[in-house]
Amino acid sequence: MTGAVRTTCPYCGVGCGVTATPDTAGGWTIAGDVEHPANFGRLCSKGSALGETLGLEGRLLHPLVAGQRVSWGAALDTVAARFRAVIDQHGPDAVAFYVSGQLLTEDYYVANKLMKGFIGSANIDTNSRLCMASSVAGHRRAFGGDVVPGTYEDLEQADLVVLVGSNLAWCHPVLYQRLVRAKEERGTRVVVIDPRRTATCDIADLHLALKPGADVLLFNGLLAYLGRAGALDQDYIARHTNGFADTFLAAGDDACDMDAVAAGCGLGLGEIQEFYGWFAETAATVTVYSQGVNQSSRGTDKVNAIVNCHLATGRVGKPGMGPFSVTGQPNAMGGREVGGLANQLAAHMGFTPEEVDRVGRFWRAPSIARREGLKAVDLFQAIEAGTVKAVWVMATNPAVSLPDTARVSRALAGCDFVVVSDCVRETDTTALADVLLPALGWGEKDGTVTNSERRISRQRGFLPPPGEAKPDWWIIAQVAARMGWGDAFAYQSPADIFREHADLSGFENQGERVFDIAALANIDYDALEPAQWPAPGTARLFGDGRFPTADGRAAFVPVRAVAPATSTSAEYPLALNTGRIRDQWHTMTRTGGVPRLSGHIGEPFVAINPADAAASGLADGGLAVARSAQGRAALRVRVTEDQAPGEVFAPMHWNRRFSAEGAINALVAPITDAVSGQPELKHTAIGLEPF
Ligand code: SF4
Repeated sequence: MTGAVRTTCPYCGVGCGVTATPDTAGGWTIAGDVEHPANFGRLCSKGSALGETLGLEGRLLHPLVAGQRVSWGAALDTVAARFRAVIDQHGPDAVAFYVSGQLLTEDYYVANKLMKGFIGSANIDTNSRLCMASSVAGHRRAFGGDVVPGTYEDLEQADLVVLVGSNLAWCHPVLYQRLVRAKEERGTRVVVIDPRRTATCDIADLHLALKPGADVLLFNGLLAYLGRAGALDQDYIARHTNGFADTFLAAGDDACDMDAVAAGCGLGLGEIQEFYGWFAETAATVTVYSQGVNQSSRGTDKVNAIVNCHLATGRVGKPGMGPFSVTGQPNAMGGREVGGLANQLAAHMGFTPEEVDRVGRFWRAPSIARREGLKAVDLFQAIEAGTVKAVWVMATNPAVSLPDTARVSRALAGCDFVVVSDCVRETDTTALADVLLPALGWGEKDGTVTNSERRISRQRGFLPPPGEAKPDWWIIAQVAARMGWGDAFAYQSPADIFREHADLSGFENQGERVFDIAALANIDYDALEPAQWPAPGTARLFGDGRFPTADGRAAFVPVRAVAPATSTSAEYPLALNTGRIRDQWHTMTRTGGVPRLSGHIGEPFVAINPADAAASGLADGGLAVARSAQGRAALRVRVTEDQAPGEVFAPMHWNRRFSAEGAINALVAPITDAVSGQPELKHTAIGLEPF
């Protein structure tokens, strides 16, 4: 591979290694990296089309202020001066950053340090709030830290893989391919728990099409069943956990009667018995969960309902065993490591006085934030209310991706000062910006990302910076310098930032934080090989039954089954579930321009059961108007038995560039999980009628 550059795919949380090799025509050949332990050379349709996304069409190439091209110096002066003015007049909580799992860890670190350490507010949140916040909260409640205990190999070593709210075949395709291979080789049983029949069901030995929102009831029923079946690991429970009795009681209250559980889940008794029996008898069980669990007003409870069953059977952090959340974004995990969420500080620290003091001393921060900031949905509502008066959006498109998009657009349009740094010129969000700052994109920027199995990999640039585009970390550091903090942001490269990040993770860490990569602080950054934290060679965590809590024990969390926040009605009789399709990524800013990816599904659609289609007067291939209390969208109708009666599905990707009418989050209410702040993107009551 002469001249090949080893980098990482910028899309999903599998985090596949990619090689970019110069070809004789002056272009680049993109292939899977056979040496990367996430994918061993495999790529999915999106990853293998990366080479077709490298053109400059649609790129933001120059700084713009009020739509006029200006120098970098002028743009940065404007941003620093306006932020400074708002802070001086209204205080630090009057400004906010909204960042992204598309940022590299180093970018994320610098943004977080500026906002939380120097501006003095924790009003920095990330689009990872829409993705994994419920898993973060569930892990912290159960394990004492935001830690995924397992590794991808566990899916290959398991005898039973339970996929909950995860269309792995489309959303994490290479991990799905690894599971398919394992199933062929060792006959792994696969259970898919999803209201829809998805592509992942092709390998399911059992598909439980449960009622939307019934996950807690299903897993409380499982915990009660495990008790009745004598399948609890009493020794593990006694030695390594707290809170079992209360949790078991709560589960029993909800779910002691199997007939009632089956009815509540909308499943047959035989289906439930089969699943429960397999779980009870199979030690090597991995339960994978993703957005179907997280994107819920009870997402955190759903995560804990799953984790409770693994703790009760002692199946955590051992080969082929464990609860396993798969992240949606390439660097959702890296952002969590540096405190990209408004309720975390940095290096997996929170806002206890000791942690605030520790981070403040490490950063020599003049005014460190002492309390949590606003989470994504609340943050945009604060912008709408005028309490946040200046916002900087980095590498994300909230005017499409957040719920109730009309309200988000209204908030940004009414905000005193909106900065957007992005690599794309025209998005629904850049259209609302006062200042646009051109950022490097994939193939141009350098840094690290962390995938769903805690593996840190390098993204490496192999293309020259286009136009005047700059790395995100550089842009943020330049603004920090203009606000008077140049010494603390005098980074010369991403390697400098990574070293500081690694040092902070080990700073005064007496073992209470699992996230400690201090050993990587002095490695050769350019040569960094993909490595799982906390240290290369540590594939699994908690296999010894010790957890990063005060007494070293994990916590059972009693959870109760609660219906989704909104109910269907005569006016809005259908439950809308949103999600991804196989060949598009987020709001399509990159994948939408690749013809062969659009060849899979080329327009926004709504999938509906034949009975509901007939009742609504809709025909397959026709157009429908979907409406909710929040808004409306126009969608192509797909009539399919894969949808249960009363439920419809629509993809979340489309935006104003490809179909303004198809932006589905216009319909979704801004209802969030009280613990995690994650929006309920999987259940909105809507009506459908012919266009
Ligand atoms: Fe990229 Fe995910 Fe596909 Fe791998 S599975 S190539 S990380 S989109």
